[in-house]
Amino acid sequence: MIRRFSASLIATCLAVTLPAAAQSSASTVIRASAMLDVVGGRLVPDAVVLVEGHRIVAAGSGLEVPDGASVIDLGDSILLPGLIDAHTHLCIQPDYPVNNPILFKSIPYRTAEAVAAARATLLAGFTTIRDVDSEGADWADVAVRDAINDGVVPGPRMQVSTRALSITGGYMNTDGLAPQIDVPQFGALVDSPAAIVEEIRREVKYGTDWIKLYATGTTRHIHLEDMTPLPQFTHDEIALVIREASRFRRPVAAHAYGGQGALDAVRLGVRSVEHGMLLDDVILDEMADRGTFWVPTISVYFGEGPRETWDERTRAIVDAHRDTFARALRKGVRIAYGTDAGALPHGTNAVDFPVMVEYGMSPIDAIRSATVNAADLLYETDRVGRIEAGMLADLIAVPSDPLADITVLGHVTFVMKDGVVYLDQ
Ligand SMILES: [Zn+2]
Repeated sequence: MIRRFSASLIATCLAVTLPAAAQSSASTVIRASAMLDVVGGRLVPDAVVLVEGHRIVAAGSGLEVPDGASVIDLGDSILLPGLIDAHTHLCIQPDYPVNNPILFKSIPYRTAEAVAAARATLLAGFTTIRDVDSEGADWADVAVRDAINDGVVPGPRMQVSTRALSITGGYMNTDGLAPQIDVPQFGALVDSPAAIVEEIRREVKYGTDWIKLYATGTTRHIHLEDMTPLPQFTHDEIALVIREASRFRRPVAAHAYGGQGALDAVRLGVRSVEHGMLLDDVILDEMADRGTFWVPTISVYFGEGPRETWDERTRAIVDAHRDTFARALRKGVRIAYGTDAGALPHGTNAVDFPVMVEYGMSPIDAIRSATVNAADLLYETDRVGRIEAGMLADLIAVPSDPLADITVLGHVTFVMKDGVVYLDQ
């Protein structure tokens, strides 16, 4: 129903003052049966959101619609702020272990794949992402980010880390090839202070937002006897990475499962720890004290098929992840949502929500991890993650209450980013 705009009603409902532009004919109103107040943790009934250009100018219950506004009525749907996945890889596909993209795909082809991945991610309701390693596609993530910002292709708002820093023989260094065979690598292999400094400056030059480093090895590098991952960079090397990144005001994200590599990374001041399934209490306490974010990426470590068929290593890692998640919750570690999409199919980014709830997180906190918390991680607190006047108009809708059934986040029916509708089913 379209009614005349009433300033007094707005003031009663919201105690906000609408800018004059709110009454212009260019405004769009989105109506839904309710919207989620992610900060308050409650559904606001009879939701009305007024959008002008890129921004939300008013949001509340039962607001009247300005004259001339176009109305999008989403009926029984529930509105949420656009979701954030803080750990993606648009430049890889899930088949990368058996179809090494460095050897078999050109970077232009991989960029085309990344464009498709960006679209799938946006249509799944993820309006902002942090892409943490182009995995050998060099600066393709920068290109996709900029093409999205310029309106060339549809996709989420992106922060990127270009080429992750690693070491010879480390996580992203191709295993198993004969020593006389030299092929390009996934990350940037930097084995000296000079190489670290030069690579960080190169990444800044070509447009990185973050510096990513591999502080510990891969799951293959975990000793099952004591579940300890091998560190990669030394303490002094991690300190240098953070110091050089900080000079250019680039935050650092550390792939770190646990052990000394993770402890060094946290104590030296990385902004986020990725994966972290083997973080012990000492590291989690440090993270809670420092406000270091944890981006857990849980389900990417699940095996194929039923659990009984998983190998011992997979079961041990998944069990450790569950235990660490429970301890992190108790200690109040700041958790930001991230999936490792790319190792998972693009567009399935909602996959970790039900796992986090199963592991003991409340549904509202799981949603906060992908809205306000992830916005804080990305320094986007004042722009994304909430449906409030002044925020960017990133809105999604789901068919029913996600606090009652978190899996509905995998069934997004409406997506608006920056005030532009990309999906309306
Ligand atoms: Zn990853």
